[in-house]
This record gives sequence, structure tokens and C-alpha cells, in this order.
Amino acid sequence: MNAVELIRAKRDGAALADDEVDWFIRSYTDGAVPDDQAAALLMAIYFRGMTAGELARWTAAMIASGSRLDLSTVARPTVDKHSTGGVGDKVSLVLAPLVAACGAAVPQLSGRGLGHTGGTLDKLESIPGWRAALSPEEMLRVLGDVGAVICAAGPGLAPADAKLYALRDVTATVESIPLIASSIMAKKIAEGTRALVLDVKVGSGAFMTEIGPARELAGTMVALGTAHGVRTAAVLTDMSTPLGRCTGNALEVDEAEQALGGGGPADLVAITLALAREMLVLAGMSGAPDPADALADGRAMDRWRALVTAQGGDPDAPRAEARHTEVVRARASGFLRRLDARGVGVASWRLGAGRARQGDQVSAAAGVVCLAKPGAPVAAGQPILELHTDDPHRFGPALEALRGAIETGAQPAPERPLILGRVAPDPDPDPAPAPDPAPAPGEMASRWPTYGPMGRQNAGGGRD
Ligand code: URA
Repeated sequence: MNAVELIRAKRDGAALADDEVDWFIRSYTDGAVPDDQAAALLMAIYFRGMTAGELARWTAAMIASGSRLDLSTVARPTVDKHSTGGVGDKVSLVLAPLVAACGAAVPQLSGRGLGHTGGTLDKLESIPGWRAALSPEEMLRVLGDVGAVICAAGPGLAPADAKLYALRDVTATVESIPLIASSIMAKKIAEGTRALVLDVKVGSGAFMTEIGPARELAGTMVALGTAHGVRTAAVLTDMSTPLGRCTGNALEVDEAEQALGGGGPADLVAITLALAREMLVLAGMSGAPDPADALADGRAMDRWRALVTAQGGDPDAPRAEARHTEVVRARASGFLRRLDARGVGVASWRLGAGRARQGDQVSAAAGVVCLAKPGAPVAAGQPILELHTDDPHRFGPALEALRGAIETGAQPAPERPLILGRVAPDPDPDPAPAPDPAPAPGEMASRWPTYGPMGRQNAGGGRD
């Protein structure tokens, strides 16, 4: 095999054969194909898209590049959730203990945040003592004892994706539906969960700003999961404004705890309950008690405290608080019509809550508190946002990011639904689990369209 031939073929619009895909993924992971040739192939894929057969094989080859977790010893049905990433998205912190309290097992392997959307591990690491790095044995023990575990995906899980994702990040090839779908699904399938709910965020604070490409991404991921024997569904949710009131690591943990205690912001609770119900149905537990009851009666909070403690954290320890705060006020009286998720996310990132490069440190205390949400009546001069940071030099760049992010008017804007759609698998009979490394390409090709490049989208690095 020759990388130049593969790049030329893809550049000219041909589909790669199964053995070519397998060879490329194996050789790039091993270091036999260098970054410059891999970058050229990624750019050709970005422009040419992938056929269904190529995408299935590409995903299977990424899974086969590492090990697959074996969760067969877990007695409860396993079900996970993945979010494509959003501003103030602390849903996993509430959802994993909540679904565990309802009787399922949630094995959540997460990544760190990159860009303006925060990462679940960064949030949890604001809890003193909490550890993201668990051995496979520890992970299984916490999952068995608590019913949920949230930890870092080890380097053995889809290592081809780790290399390819880092290369995509620096070659402007992140925004490609087949590359995003295969990247997310290879990791989730390798994680070993039997069922998966995808929260595909749509709006200015998300990867996907438009509903059309978001729906295409959701459908692509649902088809990939289903073909690999993982019961998969997707929910499309609004990300035009931050979820809840807080962005930033410790601030989001505090807010998640409010929801776990039966309170918390209505939008966070509504999305969490919708995803929890979806997860229980996919786990084959549609007869389970309503998750709303587990929030109200303290069972979800008990699971949360058990999860934090099992991973070395102290749920009662005081968390970091910022040394400096500043408020942003409404310029005019009326209604808050728009509070832009991307503006708030970038401000929070610049205050120190997020990282610009992999490996950067994040601040536990930095972030933004939204004191008013769209639809609220506001008076001129009323505080709308409270900015938190340990470094006052960061206020200037954060305020810059917020320019144009707050809009008031005489009338409230029409209310946006929180849940914008749902994508479920084709109503085929239960597909048999796909053989590894890939299902027969002909079988997939007849059902799947060709996945092309995306329109212009945000280049955020949301990872849940
Ligand atoms: N998250 C991932 O894990 N991969 C992508 O390609 C994009 C977001």
C-alpha cells in the first residue's frame, strides 16, 4: 500500500477499499504513515466526504486500533450518554448518578474540554481529591458499587482517534460529519456500553450551529452505533443560550448539586430528565420509576455523593472561589431577548475556565454566572452577568467576547424549545452486533447515504 495513492484516490473522489482503510488507520497509529500524509488524506476526506461503507470501515478500524472494554460482568444494563458539547452543559454530573439511582449502570468515559465548551472531567476535578484516572479494575469496581462511574478514557481506547483528533485540530479538518461521527462513536463503542443516548447540541454555543447538519450528524452516529450492536438514539437540544445559569468548573458542580438536591434551573432539569427517560428506555428499563422522583427524594444525590467519594473526592470540601468578580449590566430596560451561548462560553474560557491547547491548566474558580436568562424582564443597569476569575487582567478579553452577546428589547423574543428533535434507529429488527473490525460494506451501503463535508460550523472541541 502507498499513502500517496490513497490520498490521490480520495482527492479525486474515489472511495477507499476496506483493506486501504485498515492499512491507513493501522499505519498512522503505528507511526509508519507520517502526519503530513495523514493531514492530506483528512483534508481530502473533508472535501470529498465518505461513502457509508468507508465510514463503517473507518470507524471499525479505529475501534480495532485499541482494546475494547468488557463490561459483561456488570450485572445491571449498561447505558451511557454523550454530548457533543455546549456552554454550561453539566448534564452528565446530574444524569449519571440519576440513572444509576433508577437501576441502570452508567460507564461514562469522558474527555477534557478544549475551546469554549467545558469538559466533564475538568468540572469534576474542581472537587478536592477527585480522580479522573482509574485503572480498568477500579472503573469496574466503582461501576459495580455505585452504578455509575465518570473517568478518563485510557490511552488504549481507540488510540487511532487520539492521534487523528489532535491532527484534525491543527489542520482545520475537525468540522467534517464523517470524521466527527467516527471519532465519537469509535470511543463510545470501544467503551463497551450496550446502549447510548447522544445529546447533539444545536446553536451558537455548539459545534453545530444549524439544525440540518446536526440532524445529519445525529443520524450518522445513530446508524454507526446500531450497526455495532449498541442501541443508540439521539436527542437534538438547544444551545443558543447557556444551559442553566453557571459556566465554569466549580460553579457548574455547585449548580449540578442544586439539581441533584431537587432544585436547580428548570432548563437543566428538563433536559436531564428527558435524557434519563431516553436512557432507561434504551436500557430496556421502561418500567423503571420516573427519574423525577429520584431527584425529588434524594436518591440521585446519594448516588452522586457515593460516586464522588468512590473516586477519591470529598463532596463536602469547600470548592474554589474566584478572587475577583465583575458584573455586566443591562444597557436598557425591557426584556432580555438574547444571551448568546458562544459569547458567554468564550468569556468563561478567557476568564480561565477552559484551555486553548491540550495539556493547559484550567482554573476551578473561573466562570460566568447568568443572573438573568432570555425572556426575563430587566431594568437598565440591572446586573445580567457576573464574571469570576483569579486574574483581573482576564476581565478585558472576557468583556470583549461578550460584545453583542446581550440583547434587550421592548418585547420578549419567541421562546425556543429546549428539545429540537429526536433521531432513533431505522425500525429494522434488532441488528446483529457487527463483526469486528467491520460489517460487510455492501450491507451498510444500501441503507446509508454518502456523508459529505459540513457547512460552516463552530470549531469548538466539545468532549463529554
Ligand atoms: N468530539 C470528539 O470526540 N471527536 C470529534 O471529532 C469532535 C468532537
